[in-house]
Formats: sequence, C-alpha cells, structure tokens
Amino acid sequence: MNSFKPLLAALAMAVVSPALAQQAAQQTLFTNVNVFDGVNEKLMENASVLVEGNLIKSVSTVPIPSDGATVIDGGGRTLMPGLIDAHWHTMFNFWPISQVMGANFGALSIAAAKHSGEQLLRGFTTVRDVGGNVFGVKMAIDTGLVDGPRIYPSGPYIGQTSGHGDFRGPNDVPENPDTPLDYTQRIGHTLIADGVPDVIKRTREALRMGASQIKAMAGGGVSSLYDPLDVTEYTFEEAKAIVDVAKTWNTYVAIHANTDAAIRMWGEAGALSVEHGFFIEDETARMMAEKGIWWSMQPMDAHGEDAFQFESPISTEKYEACVAGLEQVIALARKYKVKTAFGTDLLFDPELAAKEGKFLAKLKKWYSPYEALKMATSDNAELLVLSGPRNPYSDGPLGVVKPGAYADLILVDGNPLENLDLVADPGKNFVVIMKDGKIVKNTID
Ligand SMILES: [Zn+2]
Repeated sequence: MNSFKPLLAALAMAVVSPALAQQAAQQTLFTNVNVFDGVNEKLMENASVLVEGNLIKSVSTVPIPSDGATVIDGGGRTLMPGLIDAHWHTMFNFWPISQVMGANFGALSIAAAKHSGEQLLRGFTTVRDVGGNVFGVKMAIDTGLVDGPRIYPSGPYIGQTSGHGDFRGPNDVPENPDTPLDYTQRIGHTLIADGVPDVIKRTREALRMGASQIKAMAGGGVSSLYDPLDVTEYTFEEAKAIVDVAKTWNTYVAIHANTDAAIRMWGEAGALSVEHGFFIEDETARMMAEKGIWWSMQPMDAHGEDAFQFESPISTEKYEACVAGLEQVIALARKYKVKTAFGTDLLFDPELAAKEGKFLAKLKKWYSPYEALKMATSDNAELLVLSGPRNPYSDGPLGVVKPGAYADLILVDGNPLENLDLVADPGKNFVVIMKDGKIVKNTID
C-alpha cells in the first residue's frame, strides 16, 4: 500500500497547484451573442454570458459588467453548448484496423491524443467512448497535458467468444486452457467472457479500470468476422449478470446490438442504451420507451463518399443491410418517443473522422435543426448522466448554457438553428471554441 503514497501525493499536488487555482478564478465575458441554450428552440437574443473558472456564472440580456474579465464581442453570432458525440471510439477512429491491431499501444495512445485535439477543434467537447482502452488518453486530457474532449470511458468491451468483441485470429479456437490472453485483451481494448461467473469478473475488471458505463456486445456486428448480423450475443442469464454488476456500481450497460431479438432480450435484462439498433421493431420500440431505454443512433449513408468502407464484402453487405433500416427506426422512435441520442461511430478512417460535424448535419434528413442540435447537446448530456456517481464530470451539467453548467461553448458564425450545415464546417464557422472555461480556438480579429 505504501508504494502508492508518493503517487497519490503527486496527484493531490497537481489538483491544488497554485497555478491552476489562479486559472480557476479567471473570467471570460461573451457579449452581443444570441444564445442557443441546448434546450429551448428560441434564441436568447443580444445576451451576455459570463464564464468564471470552468463554469458558466451568468447568462443575461441585461449587460454584465466586465470588471477584470476577458471580453469577447460575439458580434451577434450564436453561442451554443459544445457538441457531444454519444458513440465515439477515441482509440479506433484514425488508423485502419490492421494498423490498430498491430500498433504499439504507446504509439496508439499518442496518436489518439493528437486526434482528440483535432476533435475538440471540431467543436466536440465531450464524447461517450464506447470501447477501447482510453483511460490514459482521458487522464492526459483531464490533467491538461493535451487538449481533447471530456471522455466518458467504457474501457474494454465485454463480449462473448465469437462475438463482436472477439478479435482473435481465425485459427485461435478451440482455446487451450493455458493460452494467454491475446493482445487486444491484454491491453484492455476488449475482454472475452463466457458464462455467468466469467462475465461478472470481466465486468468488474472494466469497472476497476474506471469505466463510467459498461459496453457489452449483444448481437452480430458489421465489421467483425465471426458473428452474422442475426445472432444474439449472450444468453439472458449472462446479460442479466452483466447488467446487475453495473447496477451494483450504480451505473448502466450500453449494448452493441442491431436485431430486434437481441435488443428485446437485453432490454428485459436491464440494459439502458442501445447502440445502432438498426432493426428495432414496433413492440421493442414501445418497450424501450416504457423502460426509458435510449436509442443511440448514427446517421450513416449506405452509399457515396461518406459510406463506411470495408475490406470484406461480407461486411459491406451487412453494413448496407443495417443502414437500410435507419428510416424505419427513426419513425418508430418518433412514434413512441424513444429517447434518442446522436453519435457517429466513425472508425478506422481519419478522413471520415474529420467529417464528424458533417454527420451531425446529416440529421437534417429526418430532424429539424433544433431537434438535431438538442440531441447533440442537452439530450446526449441526459444520457451521460445515467453514469450516476461514476460520472467523471459532475461539477455541473453538460450540453446546456445556463448558470452552473460547464463552460463548454461554441461561438458559431451564423445561426445553426436556421442552417444546420454550419456545423459541417467547424474550421470555418466555429470562430470560438471553449472547453472547461479555456479558449481552445479564437479566430475573431
Ligand atoms: Zn461503435
């Protein structure tokens, strides 16, 4: 135990260092801005927003005295909450899968940190990371070592043999009892567990690493090799054991699942967030609404320049089948008022990852700009709160512009409630980006 003491002391010193304490008292005043608060469709016009330390102190249409604050004249632009991506993979978005699998973990983490900085400049100030060992990158961001969004980490996926999280080679079965864990498990990207005792243990290990929620593989996947789309992953008893362990930790389980059968079984077992869900049917949508289960959707294109690319034609076929279901599920989610979160799941392709904002703008096909922006801010933030006491960022709410909320803000040149396409080009249209009260971009003269 004693060997941890110097480390803990060093961490405590870092938390209360005088430099940071001084920074916490700093104020920034945005004047002459129209505020989209993340919740209300109507902008608060010609307002001022005062930021103190890392939180919003006041929002007012009556001028706020600037005192010692740094003043940013918004020039009538729109101030809105930083964006949230509810389905992101910090470790897997920027390199092709073969490179990720063969990469040195240190190099992968450094690259992930670099790309997280780029993501922040796209206006995404928070992500829910739904799989991969992201804990080191998160720590580097949270301690100010590098710039990047806030990360709600799931850590290793919990998945079954032959499931969506089984990255072992095709000839690695049957597993010899003495076989060591494969590389993806040893470094904590994924954990393969079968049977109730094993899933309980692996889920607890993910929580021990610091998962704010558990990500479980509940059904067939697009990119994975051994699981056809139609399969349900885990039995009810295993699913319930995973959910129950998350509950004892006062958090929840998000599931990777597409088919109606898998979602129904896991919904009955108590999972609270369905990732993808491209084949949800009527009764299951109703059940999700009744139980308060979220649908975490991704607006993917089946064809064209933004379609995901796969090496295997089998994956391409699965992908197209999934995306074809999107229209129908959006209609069902509307019909039953299923809580809906927005995410991108952009994987293994830096050019695609750079289009994160463009994917948000794709929502205009089905949603009003207001609905889309509310999803990517306050609605997504409501989903994040399901982590309960495991929420890593609990000083104030996220995804809203109001007193006491985290000062994660974007100043948009134009009104995104009238033109959602503005979010597709953050380099041009996001003139100020603030995260945690700190300005990370300011291109106003
Ligand atoms: Zn994913």
